Amino acid sequence: MSLSKIKHIVLVLSGKGGVGKSSVTTQLALSLSLVGHSVGVLDVDLTGPSIPRMFGIEDAKVKQAPGGWLPITVHEGDASAGIGSLRVMSLGFLLPRRGDAVVWRGPKKTAMVRQFLSDVFWDELDYLLIDTPPGTSDEHISLAETLLLNTTEQQRAGAVVVTTPQAVATADVRKELNFCTQTGIRVLGVVENMSGFVCPNCSECTNVFSSGGGEVMANDFNVRFLGRVPIDPQFLVLIETGRRSRYPQGTTVNGQDISTPADAPTEDQESRDPALLVHKYKECSLAPIFGSITADVVAAVQAAA
Ligand code: ADP
Repeated sequence: MSLSKIKHIVLVLSGKGGVGKSSVTTQLALSLSLVGHSVGVLDVDLTGPSIPRMFGIEDAKVKQAPGGWLPITVHEGDASAGIGSLRVMSLGFLLPRRGDAVVWRGPKKTAMVRQFLSDVFWDELDYLLIDTPPGTSDEHISLAETLLLNTTEQQRAGAVVVTTPQAVATADVRKELNFCTQTGIRVLGVVENMSGFVCPNCSECTNVFSSGGGEVMANDFNVRFLGRVPIDPQFLVLIETGRRSRYPQGTTVNGQDISTPADAPTEDQESRDPALLVHKYKECSLAPIFGSITADVVAAVQAAA
């Protein structure tokens, strides 16, 4: 099976759609790569696979090899820069119109999830992140069963559960945590996304929604709270246009100054700059936040191994 050379498999789950599960998967992948891990991302979110868009590789063509698919390389590892390789496989690559939701019946969906797990040639990876559909559907059960049968306990690192301040108030995220308990999936921690706002004009991070609910809920369930991630419109700019994030002087996030230096390339210079997404991401306000979330995830994985 193609999973045999993978050290740790991490599921990314959310109770409902639109809370930022794919964004969290993407940023966990970039942050793990930035600290030297080789990373794979498997997108099995049949409700609308958005991982290709996140990595700017929507037009990539997946190659078939005897017995399976070759994942798309976002970037190769660079030992001198301390960066690990990043590869992606998404159901989106196989759909005629990218971004379409799949309208298959249950059995076909579960078969596809199984095939996706077994038929991608990942080679050696430190981490495989699996972006799952929202909620707790048949695909999740199939995913959990397939992993149970085909991986060792050491490989099955656990799940990162994503929520938002508003979603905490609903039953969805609690259902997700209960699902993990029932299926024996270890919860590595909870991320509260869209918690506060990095204002592009006034260099302040304000709470647009009440925050803190994720932490209370994590405590109730006795699972680790990994942190709050604000809404940063500059993250969207990076994802949608590939342009670097820019912040006015004096912008601080979690006490760290992230203002754009005066000598940074202008937008015009930048359009000719082919810097990799992983390097540009380092300048996004969310990168230090994910750096610390990632360190906690790695610690949780290692503690469980
Ligand atoms: P999900 O996978 O849960 O459906 P997505 O990750 O696709 O959600 O996020 C929904 C939209 O919100 C996307 O356009 C994404 O780029 C944006 N988004 C998510 N989190 C943030 C954030 N912290 N800051 C800015 N935009 C975000």
